[in-house]
Amino acid sequence: MALLTAREAARRLNRDERTIRRWVSAGKLTPRTSASNRLAIDEQDIERLVERLTERDQQRRGIIDLEDRVLQLEQEQAAILARLALLEERAGTFAPKPAAPDRRPRSLATPADVPPGSRQATEFAAAHGVHRVTFRDHMTIGIRGDLVAHISIPKPNKPRETDRWLSPEQQQAAVDFWQRHGTTWQRCSDPACLVCGDQQDPGTQHTPGGFAPGSP
Ligand SMILES: [Zn+2]
Repeated sequence: MALLTAREAARRLNRDERTIRRWVSAGKLTPRTSASNRLAIDEQDIERLVERLTERDQQRRGIIDLEDRVLQLEQEQAAILARLALLEERAGTFAPKPAAPDRRPRSLATPADVPPGSRQATEFAAAHGVHRVTFRDHMTIGIRGDLVAHISIPKPNKPRETDRWLSPEQQQAAVDFWQRHGTTWQRCSDPACLVCGDQQDPGTQHTPGGFAPGSP
């Protein structure tokens, strides 16, 4: 059998000589004794070890390939989830938004016979958290003889029905009415709102019971 010195074995295995000696102490390599009584290693042992190391490298490469594949799949999954989220978001814009305040645009264009800045009564009430039926009662039945003033005009194409409008003064008067009678209402987020707009002090707005002592 051909014997290799530790250094030769190290070169063959592409390892450090100390590694070869460590492997010998660990029993991975069987030490032989050379004629000169120095550590020697059988060449066949080295060949077998080279084979095993190559095999291990291939397994390691296989694992790395699998890790790459998993990473790729994770990235594809993330892309799919992102697309799904986008689709859900789009679908969500068609679904009713339960808790959101009434976001309907101020419906009809302001008719010619109401003052500029007028708002439709139902829209105004909804924007301020008052149910339209409650507010219709405020306008038509009133509370103890107190009514919310409004402008009543026939609906286009439905002359027996009316659209109720509030001029800017009537909008403020409606809020004053709610304050007077303890109707719960809320400021809207519309910066163009004549009642809730920036000219108002938010601290004086909320009801019930928030009206000034001098009010009727
Ligand atoms: Zn408002």
